[in-house]
Amino acid sequence: MLTPEPELGVPDAHLGIAFPNPLDPPSGCTFHPRCVHAMPLCSRTAPRPIPRAAGGHVECRLYEQAQADRAA
Ligand code: SF4
Repeated sequence: MLTPEPELGVPDAHLGIAFPNPLDPPSGCTFHPRCVHAMPLCSRTAPRPIPRAAGGHVECRLYEQAQADRAA
């Protein structure tokens, strides 16, 4: 799996090579059916976008968790 911005520190989610149907996307985080790190909440609700100081945002509960751990 390619990580689009490796400097973000988001762990490789090992998403494989299969893609969801774009006409019928999965509920919650659209990566949850093939994400080895998916949590029960990932299939129910999409992660909230977290803004980055450098611009843009990240939408992944792992990143949200990593940010909280850094702040603690
Ligand atoms: S929010 Fe992150 S951990 Fe959860 S399914 Fe999506 S990519 Fe995986």
